[in-house]
Amino acid sequence: MTWSIINQSLEEADLLNQESIYALGNGYLGVRGNFEEGYAGRKSIRGTYLNAFHDVINIPYGEKLYGFPSTQQKLVNVIDAQGIDIYVGAAQEHFNLFSGEVVSYTREMKLNDGYTERVIHWKSPSGQELKLRFRRLVSFKTRELFAIDIAIEPISVNGEITIVSTVQGDVENYTAVNDPRVASGHAKLLTTQAQGSENGVDYVQNETLTSKLSVSCAAAYSHSGAASSEHVTEGNKINYKASFSSNSPLSFTKWNVYTDTLRHGEQSLQQAIHIAADLASSSSFEAQLKEQKQYLDDFWYRSDIVISNDEALQEGIRFNIYQLLQSAGRDEYSNIAAKGLSGEGYEGHYFWDTEIYMAPVFLLTQPDIAKQLLIYRHHILPFARQRAKEMGHAKGALYPWRTISGTECSSFFPSGTAQYHISADIAYSYIQYFMATEDVDFLADYGCEVLAETARLWIEVGHEHEGSFYIDEVTGPDEYTCCVNNNYYTNAMAKHNLAWAAKAMQLLQQASPERYAALIQQLELTADEITVWANAAERMYLPYDEALGINPQDDSFLRKKVWDFENTPEENYPLLLHYHPLTIYRYQVCKQADTVLAHFLLEDQQSLETIKQSFDYYEKITTHDSSLSTCIFSIMASKIGYDEKAYHYFQETARLDLDNTHGNTKDGLHLANMGGTWMAIVFGFAGVRIKPDTLSLAPKLPSDWDHYQFKLQYKQRTIEVTVAASGITLTLLAGEALTVELFNQPVVLQPNQSFSS
Ligand code: BGC
Repeated sequence: MTWSIINQSLEEADLLNQESIYALGNGYLGVRGNFEEGYAGRKSIRGTYLNAFHDVINIPYGEKLYGFPSTQQKLVNVIDAQGIDIYVGAAQEHFNLFSGEVVSYTREMKLNDGYTERVIHWKSPSGQELKLRFRRLVSFKTRELFAIDIAIEPISVNGEITIVSTVQGDVENYTAVNDPRVASGHAKLLTTQAQGSENGVDYVQNETLTSKLSVSCAAAYSHSGAASSEHVTEGNKINYKASFSSNSPLSFTKWNVYTDTLRHGEQSLQQAIHIAADLASSSSFEAQLKEQKQYLDDFWYRSDIVISNDEALQEGIRFNIYQLLQSAGRDEYSNIAAKGLSGEGYEGHYFWDTEIYMAPVFLLTQPDIAKQLLIYRHHILPFARQRAKEMGHAKGALYPWRTISGTECSSFFPSGTAQYHISADIAYSYIQYFMATEDVDFLADYGCEVLAETARLWIEVGHEHEGSFYIDEVTGPDEYTCCVNNNYYTNAMAKHNLAWAAKAMQLLQQASPERYAALIQQLELTADEITVWANAAERMYLPYDEALGINPQDDSFLRKKVWDFENTPEENYPLLLHYHPLTIYRYQVCKQADTVLAHFLLEDQQSLETIKQSFDYYEKITTHDSSLSTCIFSIMASKIGYDEKAYHYFQETARLDLDNTHGNTKDGLHLANMGGTWMAIVFGFAGVRIKPDTLSLAPKLPSDWDHYQFKLQYKQRTIEVTVAASGITLTLLAGEALTVELFNQPVVLQPNQSFSS
């Protein structure tokens, strides 16, 4: 059962969450799990998205100061091709699950087969009885394809069955006025440029109001033979109406193909029509399922984590890994939105979530996807350079806190632009990639440039004072403490960024003096500048409090009053929805892991004692109001030896969306947390770390489990890790012999052999 997410609930509130949970995607195209026939007038957040397909909207300000972005990008809800209405019998009653009698209903997402299925036994109000099966997939191989397949078995139907399938061009984005995590305005972003039917293919082409990107959707059909059929245009909607006899079972496949001008250029409409017609005539839903399966067999071979004796957690882990795969952009225009392609929360923006919470999963399981994510950051480097200039820096690159196409989209700078750490987070991800792949070419083509430009930023924003390097007026990951001096996390990450920028240039110089020469010329870089980076890294101030033996989150943090947790009612969480930001900023209260996160990412910068004392301190004042928090506490609890706590925090992450524990799954899934689940096992329980020269492991077995197992891709090898009560086994399944570290001891892994301890 752990390869399926099964549901039988038709509660209205639950349906909205289910729309996110049953969302399908392939990194390019995402479709929420809406019912084809809708909910008979009840509320639904109907959505189809193309990763990075956005419009540009104005940001309204009461008071707009210098450097505040005037516009932002917004992921657009594109043409709706989900619609299929079925009318049954002499009275042509509309099939839906809110009228008549639902004799049985099951929805399932098949994680190893790559599709969703709804199976329904229904009696209409007048007693017409039929069984229906809806299957849908978004193809991993043909990125433009979203196919819906319907099988209808009439049990007792008098008269025809009519299917009306639509391509709806009149669509809107979702808005919610009082939740800062969801857009409050700009619902209508598309105008229709073209629509019609051509050789049995219905199509709509829409254009965004401002960015002038165009999206096309073409729908073609194959079915078991209709008695009659016609294509009818109604406003911005094209209907395909087909009538079937109810004497025998019928099947109906809708081939929806989405293209856009970002990826398909000026001929995108023609391409969509062509691909759809081709699929309808030469493919079958079964053939598509086969391709999905092939793709997923390979995917799961590398990416699965098996845990024993806990089905609920196993289901949670697999669901999370699968949703990551569905969300990750695979081209230079796109990345992974905070909600993936499952909803409109955070408006489809990309944050640091990718580099710190999601890229690690891909790096160690699907390095090609990790590489693509980094290429996107390189692609938007010109915008980051531009933003650095706007922010008063003579040189360097300041990555936007949230963005789609590269410009800053955050209107609230204290927890937006001030989070300068995102530039170091991106640098960190490049460094991790290099350490895990030794890909010098990639460093030369992309990495060195990003590392150099981000290093320059730290020299610009920081300053030296009495021999130490300080960074003032920034915000760390904890958004309940803003605009501070010397945020430990930021300083630690900047130090790493600076040191590695210098090191990467050196590596490049050794590997390819010509490419090094070309790069320094291109960046107008001098040897002195590189020395300045190395020195700044060396002298970086990392706050430390002698009395408590911890790293203070920033210069003023420990002087603040501790938040009155005892008198804060349960219903006032998350605090951000109940208190003015300034109230929150005045107290010691953390929304999410900050210093604790730095201790995970850069564990060699502090002693274990400082790390442990810091964990104890921050744990008491962290609300985990952000879903990016508990996974980090789980990892660090594992490291410190708080095994029960580690397991408890892990449990909080693993089923966050499946159980809607944050109450907002309807707005989309929490992708960073999903990566966090994987990290809590691999980096937490198994203690895996990518070190400059080796991969190190320190596995433990949670007491509730008999064993767990996963694979890692590392330096062109496939390593299988099995942790059981009987011991730890490392098997080198592919690649040449390799030395790794197990509990700080070198271990040589030989091809196709296992090492057990
Ligand atoms: C978190 C940020 C995160 C953003 C998007 C916020 O609630 O505090 O760290 O980047 O959500 O997931």
